[in-house]
Amino acid sequence: MVDIMGHLAFGLLFAIPAWFRWRKRVSASFVSLTAVFALVPDIDIWLATWFPWEVHHHGVTHTIVFVVAASLVVGVVTAAAFTNVLDDWFGRDRFDSRDVFGFVTVATALGGVSHVFADTLSAPDISTPIEPFWPFITEPFPVDVIYYDDPLWNVGFLAVMLVAHLIVASVVHPVDRSEPLRGQESG
Ligand SMILES: [Zn+2]
Repeated sequence: MVDIMGHLAFGLLFAIPAWFRWRKRVSASFVSLTAVFALVPDIDIWLATWFPWEVHHHGVTHTIVFVVAASLVVGVVTAAAFTNVLDDWFGRDRFDSRDVFGFVTVATALGGVSHVFADTLSAPDISTPIEPFWPFITEPFPVDVIYYDDPLWNVGFLAVMLVAHLIVASVVHPVDRSEPLRGQESG
């Protein structure tokens, strides 16, 4: 594990390609979703305090199977309940429920996978090693090249990723003058 900043940073790393796929607002939404879901597998820290016999840190929530299943559920629920809201928010890019399902499922799955990846690189410093490929491979898969509270991999990497996103976003999406100009014409 790295800390929250490190997980945000790895989520941001995985989300960089989004800027090349959609317009700025849609890409930013994708990046935000991925970054938030890069924190989700650690809900087992809280779950373990409520269900100490059933849940342990670095258990089922730190597996690809859990990440994919949870992302599918979030994708289905969001597509069913919020397609119109998101379609309005995204503006010119039209999103039907199938698009929203794919968008949300991929964004959340990427976030979850980035978390498992980061923990694979940094467990088992202070916790048990994770088994990312459970139940297919039940052996722990520790790579352990990062110390969990290494400031370089937490605040340093987060700073680098924030700057990288700013640069990529501004290069791929130079200031879009079309919308304000059209607004002035019509107004
Ligand atoms: Zn974790």
